[in-house]
Amino acid sequence: PAHLRDAASTFRYVRVNLLVTSVDAIVKAFQDDRYRLVDLSQAEGRSMHQVLAVKSRVFARDPHLADLLVFPPGTDLHAHPLFANGSVVLQDKASCMPAHVVQPAPGSAALDACAAPGNKTSHMASLMKNRGRIFAFDMDQRRLETLVELTGNAKCKIITAQCMNFLDVDPLDPSYADVEYALLDPSCSGSGIVNRQDALVDSYISIVNPTGTGGDESRSTEARARNLAEFQTSIVLHAMRFPGVKRISYSTCSVHAEENEGVVARVLQSQTEFGLAGADQVIPTWHRRGLETAGLTKEQAACVVRTMPEDGTNGFFVAGFVRQQPADIANT
Ligand code: SAM
Repeated sequence: PAHLRDAASTFRYVRVNLLVTSVDAIVKAFQDDRYRLVDLSQAEGRSMHQVLAVKSRVFARDPHLADLLVFPPGTDLHAHPLFANGSVVLQDKASCMPAHVVQPAPGSAALDACAAPGNKTSHMASLMKNRGRIFAFDMDQRRLETLVELTGNAKCKIITAQCMNFLDVDPLDPSYADVEYALLDPSCSGSGIVNRQDALVDSYISIVNPTGTGGDESRSTEARARNLAEFQTSIVLHAMRFPGVKRISYSTCSVHAEENEGVVARVLQSQTEFGLAGADQVIPTWHRRGLETAGLTKEQAACVVRTMPEDGTNGFFVAGFVRQQPADIANT
């Protein structure tokens, strides 16, 4: 469908690094640089696509994420001094959702299981105001070096980066006893990334309208998604073994239900200590929720979030898990 393809000209998002500055200060800095602030809540029925469609120096506060600004498609801020000095991070909107789902409290301890290149790690540090501790793991040494550089540029001071397979990290190691928050963003098929637009649209269509017949290619894609789903499920279940963890976000940049709703359903079936975080804790004002598929009920699907290019962002999925109170477990 053309409307899905056309919408792929994604907006440019600017995440304000709260370790360096504030949203108000950055809004003013862009205004001083002759960018015009528009108020999307006063757009009188016009969509963000209409208001920010013009290729001019306009921008808006993102209506869903408080530390995000949105610019028209095609805006290039890579050479902007605010980017160069670490005041802002250029990060797609969907990829800014997981840290807001984890909501790590300043002063607490958090872990990022598959952290490199570190955009979400640096986002957690920003929300934690550089107070507390973040354990960041990745099994790829080179990507982890990028994380150290990127989070250093962003002035993060509370990150301990370790090159490890997260599945080999001992949850009962006393160093992790205080860890309350876990951000899980494991490798996925990447089918939601907009520059793989055709693959994305085709897979999304086959999910919403599964009557089409697939050839060999779609069968091998399915097998790959199944293997990935097993790995992704094991990452979530491993994070749940850390005794102090009470809130978890699980995300992918995939549109395949198997890697998304399917993983959530398997996790819920495999253990009883964690339940799904309610819709009120998972980007509550966001309209596009999960699909009632791959083992999720309608109510469960409403608790998780999907994004698509027609929302002005990459294809993405986020779910939250929370440790249940003993009374909740007795009732399941
Ligand atoms: N969260 C990152 C960010 O926002 O910048 C992106 C993470 S990327 C989707 C997935 C990462 O998981 C890759 O860097 C990969 O090396 C790492 N990875 C894959 N399997 C892993 C494992 N078993 N343990 C730790 N890291 C793993």
